Amino acid sequence: MRTTAELRRLWSPACDFTKRTFTMYSGATLRGLNSVALDAFQALDGVMRTFNYVPRANSPGAWETGAYNCRKITSGTGYSLHAYGIAADINARTNPYGKALITDMPVAMVMAAKGIKTTEGAQVFRWGGDYRSVKDAMHYEVVASPSELAAGIDWASVTAEPPNQNDPRTWPKLRKGDKGPSLTRLNELLEAAGFPDTNPTSFGTKTSAAVRSYQTSRKLDVDGIVGLQTWTSLLNDMPAIAESDPSPFKIEVHSRPERPMVKTGSKGSVVEELQRRLLDEGFDPGPLDGVFGRKTKTAVIAVQKANGLEPDGIVGKLTWRAVLG
Ligand SMILES: [Zn+2]
Repeated sequence: MRTTAELRRLWSPACDFTKRTFTMYSGATLRGLNSVALDAFQALDGVMRTFNYVPRANSPGAWETGAYNCRKITSGTGYSLHAYGIAADINARTNPYGKALITDMPVAMVMAAKGIKTTEGAQVFRWGGDYRSVKDAMHYEVVASPSELAAGIDWASVTAEPPNQNDPRTWPKLRKGDKGPSLTRLNELLEAAGFPDTNPTSFGTKTSAAVRSYQTSRKLDVDGIVGLQTWTSLLNDMPAIAESDPSPFKIEVHSRPERPMVKTGSKGSVVEELQRRLLDEGFDPGPLDGVFGRKTKTAVIAVQKANGLEPDGIVGKLTWRAVLG
């Protein structure tokens, strides 16, 4: 597999290439994609559609899905692959960046995405959830070269197996009378959202009432049926999924802690996490030693400038949001 450095070389220059906007089947847009890689993202979109996985569009205050970002380096670590128009982030809120893998992407779908090939057999995508250090489940990046992509996508490799209707990962449409593992997942999510179903063994009147209350509270279409819109909203409410469970709907009992404010002189694992994230984003924080020193501050200021934030070198809520993506 190619390294990020090799991909930067193959796809250079950063930021300066023919950019295209691609609208995914769900309506979410990927802006600033490299025109050479457009087919690759169309293939990725095809896989997501096959699995009924809905890339969400951005709304005010909720950044979810995007592609291009021209981030300048402060020293030799290079640009993020987003700066070459060959990476996309999908559904950031339910696929957060962090030490543990948290994702609502079905395993089979991720495998299908990684199975997309060119006509000459080159793998097209790598998934950020497979990163060895910090996991970036929202992130898909092209690992084929421009000339490999020029051979064209092997569209036969894009047709994944249709999802198994008994598998809760397929987010089946649930309505009155339904039973089974999907209903168990639904009950867990409803309960976590504060709308417990008092008779959870089959989808009856009580389940329907709980679903309607939930839909009303979230301003969804109120029909008492659990389709993609309701599944997606439930996952937004309770996105955390543990790494050990291969199914996508697992409730994490404790919500992820807010990151504390850190600045010059701060120490510890949270500073190390910040440094790793800075490095991944192409900013040089100095050694990954968990000590917030001069170089880390310089990198933080660069990130703040790149994101239009007050460049004070102090990492509070807004700067954390910027670096965690
Ligand atoms: Zn990304």
